[in-house]
Amino acid sequence: MKVRGHSLKGIVAGGRLAEGCELCYPGAKAVIFITGTCDDACFYCPVSRDRLYNDVMFVNEEPVCSVEEVIVEVARMGALGASITGGDPLTAVDRVIGVIRSLKENFGSRFHIHLYTTGRQASVEVLKALWVSGLDEIRFHPVDLRFLKSVERAVRYTGMAVGIEIPIAPGLEEWAMKVILEASRMGVAFVNLNEMEFVEPNAVNLRLRGYRESRVRPFTVDGALETALKVLEWARSLNLAPVHFCPAQFKDRIQTRNRMRRLAELDRSWYEKPTSDGTLTWVEMRGEDGTVARVHPDMLSYIEGKGTPVVVEAHPTRRRLRVLEYELGDHHPGRLLQS
Ligand code: SF4
Repeated sequence: MKVRGHSLKGIVAGGRLAEGCELCYPGAKAVIFITGTCDDACFYCPVSRDRLYNDVMFVNEEPVCSVEEVIVEVARMGALGASITGGDPLTAVDRVIGVIRSLKENFGSRFHIHLYTTGRQASVEVLKALWVSGLDEIRFHPVDLRFLKSVERAVRYTGMAVGIEIPIAPGLEEWAMKVILEASRMGVAFVNLNEMEFVEPNAVNLRLRGYRESRVRPFTVDGALETALKVLEWARSLNLAPVHFCPAQFKDRIQTRNRMRRLAELDRSWYEKPTSDGTLTWVEMRGEDGTVARVHPDMLSYIEGKGTPVVVEAHPTRRRLRVLEYELGDHHPGRLLQS
């Protein structure tokens, strides 16, 4: 898919993509939501309300309760790296350090880990502790320009790759330019501009500020792409840090689907068949006495006449969250259980 002639993988003004982004594209990174706690209240926050400000942990879509469970989930998808997000992960810095250490111990030093933070809690001690524990890359979302001090500390006192990741939408170009100028002066490795999402958790706030959902780019703020292109053009004309635009659809349509595909391929039982959407499908033979036998979809010819076959499609979550089921031979396209 293309955005004004550019690949959906993104548009870069100078330099190459951050290493953390390279592994996200094929869905090879596990997304570790380390805590929903956060000391900020951004009007554009896209984090779902059952996660934001709650001290909960997830790996991809799976709830987890301990470092051990994190490792099991990361292994289940055969991840080559991880991104640690939240909330603000640094509100739970001890947990973050425990997870980073454990990831490196279990998957090796080349397992690439990046982390997002506002920088509010990023003292020199915290940054050094993250670096020593094995964090490869830190991305700041400086909700306040004062937090740029943390960016400077990370560049000066650690050997981690340091980047900036901020949302972009009409009206934010001046702020974005200020951040890019300051960050470049400090020597950051990259700046990512995320197309602002227009999703259920932030929809009311965005409408109150006069933003509208784009008609041509679903779930994004109208005009965000054009604003990003303006900032990229400006950055290209100066000799600044590489600036990269990340389209929201890339995250949903490519990154998440690739991650699901990878998980479905690696974590399937003998009777489950992966689909191109990253789901798993199988056939259930439901007996009148309540018994259920599962069969691989390619083996249907062997069980003809042995009950009513029901085709099931599910997400590759541990509990196999079902999205669709229908009786074979039905003329309707299936019963949608969950969108
Ligand atoms: S810092 Fe991040 S998690 Fe916290 S409110 Fe802002 S966007 Fe949401």
